[in-house]
Amino acid sequence: MKDENCIFCKIAAGEIPSNTIYEDGDFRVILDLNPAAKGHALILPKEHCADIYEIDEELAGKVMKLAKKLAVHMTEKLSCDGFNILQNNHEVAGQTVFHFHMHLIPRYKEAKNNDILMWSHETFTPEEMAAIRDQIQYR
Ligand code: AMP
Ligand code: ZN
Repeated sequence: MKDENCIFCKIAAGEIPSNTIYEDGDFRVILDLNPAAKGHALILPKEHCADIYEIDEELAGKVMKLAKKLAVHMTEKLSCDGFNILQNNHEVAGQTVFHFHMHLIPRYKEAKNNDILMWSHETFTPEEMAAIRDQIQYR
């Protein structure tokens, strides 16, 4: 289903032009308009879903399979030295476009902005860590 107010729905449907590097029945993969590095691309599902909470589980699996294939392909073509695959959910986590997308970011040793994904650390006591473990234990 398409959301009439969603720019990534329009891009994925080909209604707004984009630099498309791959397309199939489920996805369009485009170059990011404001790239963190040369070749920064976004996997856009054609079906509208806002984020990881809304995306169909099977489609989420297909996203990861495509990310794997493109990471290998792009690394070969761009001769990059490493690769980030990341996906933001909700504003507090850095999401700015509320249509699910997976970032594919080639990384280069000589780049000046490789600190972009650094974060500072929080500290928890061993007791707090045990409580957190129990809280999110998945069975
Ligand atoms: P996020 O912050 O994870 O929601 O990522 C949104 C990404 O979409 C950013 O990296 C933007 O540069 C990119 N972006 C926003 N609008 C467009 C557009 N029209 N075409 C291509 N990329 C876009
Ligand atoms: Zn959308």
